[in-house]
Amino acid sequence: MSFRRGTLAATFTVAALVLSACGGDDNDTPEPDVADAPEFEEGTTMARLAEAGTIRVGTKFDQPGFGLENLEGELEGFDVEVAKIIAGALGIAPEDIEWVEAPSAVREEVLENDDVDMVVATYTINDARKERISFAGPYYEAGQQIMVAEDDDTITGPESFTENPDATVCTVTGSTPSEQIREYLADPGQLVLFDEYSQCADALRNGQVDAVTTDNVILLGFVAESDGAFKLVGEQFTEEPYGIGITKGDVEFCEFINETLRDNEDAYEEAWAATAGQVEGTETPKLPEFDACA
Ligand code: GLU
Repeated sequence: MSFRRGTLAATFTVAALVLSACGGDDNDTPEPDVADAPEFEEGTTMARLAEAGTIRVGTKFDQPGFGLENLEGELEGFDVEVAKIIAGALGIAPEDIEWVEAPSAVREEVLENDDVDMVVATYTINDARKERISFAGPYYEAGQQIMVAEDDDTITGPESFTENPDATVCTVTGSTPSEQIREYLADPGQLVLFDEYSQCADALRNGQVDAVTTDNVILLGFVAESDGAFKLVGEQFTEEPYGIGITKGDVEFCEFINETLRDNEDAYEEAWAATAGQVEGTETPKLPEFDACA
């Protein structure tokens, strides 16, 4: 399976790229329970999806530990496993999920355009996004941090960008980190924006930028893949509760997702252990308390 990595968010808007999952996993990821002919109230999203026998899930394809296309062309990661747990409760097997690449900047749009049924993509719940979509969860709590080259001892946290106006930092268009880092910059020109975090990691490796900023758990995935080339510095300086994006106002679907996660805490912990939990520096999370569905 090959697909093009976007250089423009618009590429993804026009034609969200679709990757079909190929059957069973060949690694240690748990097999989710798949409900046998579950019944749902007529007219609900759950009834529609269960009847269709498929669900379109927007996720990342380039983030180790959360949503990454592996060498066999299959997706792996914690978000991918969380989506499989929810699909399973709808009676939909992993191989019947349609995966749609959803870079940060298009996540609201793919839901508004009905290109996907849900987005599970390291997606921070916040009020601006809630004006356009709704969130189930949170199912995980991350925080923004900074990643630099292993031999860099000049950047030690976000304040380093205030103190050194020549230092550049890369993140992704449409992400919360791209907004939150601005207050630390001496000059807006210090911020370098790409569509995907793997592009920032490449830019750091090539010396085109001095740092990358996003959620700690995403950065830890890139550190683990870097063969000692990258490290994290400073403490986390924001809170990033991850939600599952759904169509605005679909309270029943939100409640169904929350209930499913609550009923599958063991599967949730196993999913973590088999994916993001493999990365050094991570701890198995407890399912956080959910927000009210709205
Ligand atoms: N959690 C943050 C966000 O939703 C950063 C990670 C991402 O861009 O996916 O914007």
